[in-house]
Amino acid sequence: LSAAKSALGRSAPAKATPSPSFESFSGYKERQMVRQIGKLQNLGDPTFREHDVRAGATSRMDGQEVINFGSYDYVGINADPRPAAAAKAAIDLYGVSASASRLTAGQRPVHTQLEAALAEHYDVEAALTFVSGHATNVSVIATITGKNDLIISDSYIHNSATVGIQLSGASRRSFTHNDLDALETILAETAGKYRATLVVVEGHYSMDGDIPDLQRLVALKKQYGFWLMVDEAHGLGCIGATGKGVREVYDLPGAAVDVWMGTLSKSLGSTGGYVAGSAALIDIMKYEAPGSVYSVALAPNLAAAALKALEILHDEPERVTRLQDNGTFFMKTVQAAGLDTGLSIGSSIVPVIVGHSALAMAASDELLARGFNVLPIVFPGVPMNQARLRFFISSEHTQEQMKTAIDTTVDILTDLKNGPLETLVQDA
Ligand code: PMP
Repeated sequence: LSAAKSALGRSAPAKATPSPSFESFSGYKERQMVRQIGKLQNLGDPTFREHDVRAGATSRMDGQEVINFGSYDYVGINADPRPAAAAKAAIDLYGVSASASRLTAGQRPVHTQLEAALAEHYDVEAALTFVSGHATNVSVIATITGKNDLIISDSYIHNSATVGIQLSGASRRSFTHNDLDALETILAETAGKYRATLVVVEGHYSMDGDIPDLQRLVALKKQYGFWLMVDEAHGLGCIGATGKGVREVYDLPGAAVDVWMGTLSKSLGSTGGYVAGSAALIDIMKYEAPGSVYSVALAPNLAAAALKALEILHDEPERVTRLQDNGTFFMKTVQAAGLDTGLSIGSSIVPVIVGHSALAMAASDELLARGFNVLPIVFPGVPMNQARLRFFISSEHTQEQMKTAIDTTVDILTDLKNGPLETLVQDA
């Protein structure tokens, strides 16, 4: 031992503790239990469902034609051949990879064209794309804030923003969803105590389909001097008369918000994320955000598809009108059937709140068996007893498809509520 000790120049380590097995992870154990309960109830697994074709308002899953309410393809871009053709042309020109970070390996014209189009869409000076929406939120938030700052966020913000907030090292506060009085109380309490304050909200909330009062947020920003960041992942293409997002609802200029963030993966039917704002903000992002400096550029084919999709969205605003008409029709019809659509304003996201997770899981399973793909959202994605069937509405759904889906949902929920599952749920 002493020879070993002197050879290494340090004392022998204390007896090592073996790291726990992956099987002992609590999340893994819980999942196994849920699967077991699902098997006993004869339920399929709602996660990782497979589509055999392009998923839009309709799809084919495991050989079965379905009406699809489980896709973010809000304005029918995935069914349109033009973005796919633009992507194929970009593959012929550039291949499928940008190879490395743009800082070192350079960019393709389609990157700058897409960013110019996004900046114009938000009525701001510049924009920058990243390989994913999730990476965008993480990178952007953690780059502009640090330990002397405060981040205040709506309690319903997406995981990607939460991770960015955690990584930033800034102090954190959160306010009850859309409760701007609660936000103001925090702002008053913390005024003057930090180098900077960042307030993070979403333009259209993904679990509930509601929007923030951007007018008041901008007024608060003027009063308290914070930076305002809006995640428009579900706003673009869905909210505002022509799909320009929440700022169009309130008729505000792009510069009213400091940091616009969004994703290419929803209405634009591609993959990737972006940030838009002042030229200085984007310069900081280009040279300092880890997702830009240390990560590969967006694949040129994905940038080309997103650019074409954005052009289509601008040239064919009737898609947005159709989507919003569909969303309103869907929400009103669900409500007329006596079901709870929560906070939804009736655009692309309409939850049908059923209560217990088991009810949502069983209803989703039965809906699929009857030809409708609707995903259940359960705790911890939403608060306990707020489990829901989340319907994503598309401009391409027909009224008949929506009406049949609602009638079928009502039938299924009635059956479930009169069946053995309800007793089980009440006993739980
Ligand atoms: N923000 C919000 C509000 C989201 O809903 C999502 C994804 N569902 C993201 C960011 C991340 O985007 P992506 O899936 O493109 O990485």
